Amino acid sequence: ILVVREATRRFGLVTALDRASLTVPRGQFLTLLGPSGSGKTTLLRIIAGLEEPTEIAELRIAELDVRGIPANHRNVATVFQHYGLFPHMSVGQNIEYGLLVRKRPAAERRRRAMEALELVRLPDKYERRVHQLSGGERQRVALARALVTEPEILLLDEPLGALDERLRRDMQVELLRLQRALGMTFILVTHSQEEALTMSDRIVLLNRGRIVQDGAPRELFECPASRFVAEFMGAEN
Ligand code: ATP
Repeated sequence: ILVVREATRRFGLVTALDRASLTVPRGQFLTLLGPSGSGKTTLLRIIAGLEEPTEIAELRIAELDVRGIPANHRNVATVFQHYGLFPHMSVGQNIEYGLLVRKRPAAERRRRAMEALELVRLPDKYERRVHQLSGGERQRVALARALVTEPEILLLDEPLGALDERLRRDMQVELLRLQRALGMTFILVTHSQEEALTMSDRIVLLNRGRIVQDGAPRELFECPASRFVAEFMGAEN
């Protein structure tokens, strides 16, 4: 579903991402893992179309060459740590926004928004204002808003970072349930190896802009490719 080949992004003298390559099959739950500043977000934003790579050999989403195609025309949706919801609008309006810009008719928007709310288990919050919701509920609405457009790939940038410990665990379970139920491709950015280990089919570990290991969670844990991988996977972070 996704091919990234030799993606590089420099900011002045800093190489945020250094020739990163990645091929992701449909339906995989993949985690981009690494310490702060390792380039995870930069890679995710390049896939989303929110960041221009300095150089890239290939970027395909569902077979389509998306280089130069703006973010809102790529078949992906992104959920961020800070939900990016419109606080003055209702939950329903927030979720339907993406359908409105795609000029879908009102009845269809409403039906799909209700379905998305069912998916994230907030079926009775359609009329609610966003500022009246708890952090966990806002994150679910952000998810519903991303899912309602039926993207090929859901990109999640530290989506649970702002939640407290218990809520984060609940949302981890919820995300996994959704991913399995929908069979959708999820790419999650996190700096928590614990989160990566519990959630993903596959972990891509980055350090200083480079992919240092790419494999199943067990592989990284049991056969680390370097001392860095061993230490990172073994550490509490
Ligand atoms: P974090 O977990 O802290 O978000 P990350 O692994 O996602 O880190 P990136 O945000 O991709 O890392 O950043 C990689 C490097 O690129 C860092 O050194 C960062 O300071 C730098 N960088 C990222 N965006 C910019 C920018 N817009 N301008 C300048 N430097 C940037």
